[in-house]
Amino acid sequence: MWKGIIREYPDFFKFSNDNNVVTILEGNTPLIPAPRLAEKINPQISIFLKYEGLNPTGSFKDRGMTMAVSRAIEAGSKAIICASTGNTSASAAAYAARAGIRAFVVIPEGKIALGKLAQAMIHGAKVIKVLGNFDDALKVVKQISEEYPITLVNSLNPHRIEGQKSGAFEICDALGEPPEYHSLPVGNAGNITAYWAGYKAYLDSGKIKNLPKMIGFQAEGASPIVQGRVFEKPETIATAIRIGNPASWKKAEQARDESKGLIDAVSDDEILKAYKMVSCLEGVFCEPASAASIAGVIKKSAQGFFNGGERVVCTLTGHGLKDPDNAIKISSEPVTCEPEMRKVLNVLGF
Ligand SMILES: *Cc1c(COP(=O)(O)O)cnc(C)c1O
Repeated sequence: MWKGIIREYPDFFKFSNDNNVVTILEGNTPLIPAPRLAEKINPQISIFLKYEGLNPTGSFKDRGMTMAVSRAIEAGSKAIICASTGNTSASAAAYAARAGIRAFVVIPEGKIALGKLAQAMIHGAKVIKVLGNFDDALKVVKQISEEYPITLVNSLNPHRIEGQKSGAFEICDALGEPPEYHSLPVGNAGNITAYWAGYKAYLDSGKIKNLPKMIGFQAEGASPIVQGRVFEKPETIATAIRIGNPASWKKAEQARDESKGLIDAVSDDEILKAYKMVSCLEGVFCEPASAASIAGVIKKSAQGFFNGGERVVCTLTGHGLKDPDNAIKISSEPVTCEPEMRKVLNVLGF
């Protein structure tokens, strides 16, 4: 039976007292081959989807949260706090519930996907909406955690990035080696930082012999790393990457440069097109932000970036069910019809 990332990778995640480990058996997500998507985008490459939507709270945030909350318990903490565009709060709320401690989550007003808000609420977190954006929310929780005995579990908490390395371990375990390219959406830039650190840790331990190139994608309206400037008012439909001043900005640039990869931007239209494509061609439902990884591969492929023969892993960071509003908005409406065979057949075009 899968034991969660901390107990599955004890060489990398060390706990002197196993009782402090807080897990909901996160990780072990499938690496799904996507041949129909590759056929459409570029038949010369192989695409794999690391479907992080299948973590306990439906996003990769659980990999970091099991570490952050376990370390908080180890240190005797009784409460955690985070700012969040949604998934961090959902995960923090669930792991705090599991640990029997309190969770406070501060979210930007308005732009939070419905499913994520529901998760934070049902797990019993105290949810506070601030009249500002994510960056404003982060500033407040940082201050609070510095002055009160409440553990910050945003990705500034180094244990988050530690735990998120496990995604890279699993990909190498599944493929037997790293892919040539690893594509990710970039928001606060913790995940691209963590994957790169994970691949390097696996190389150092002799488990793999080479490293992938990291390719990250921001939304055009929230592309501070691409443009080299803070975005005061980041805007994108992909709320999970609607971030104007990423916490791991420098480390993401390091990951890009050391791996000889790139960080580029994709438009909301490109994101939505990729979001629809992966749902319709592969039966895999992710949230809009996740689809930036695929939109980026589409964009780069059209520019002749790939030579052919490469394996490209796209991390699909969160589950599509978290954001039903966007899915409904871009899909065709159900047709209303009398419950009679002839009428239904008419609608079907027979
Ligand atoms: C948090 C999140 C991101 C962004 O990850 P960073 O580590 O902040 O770059 C992307 N997609 C989803 C679904 C997320 O929850």
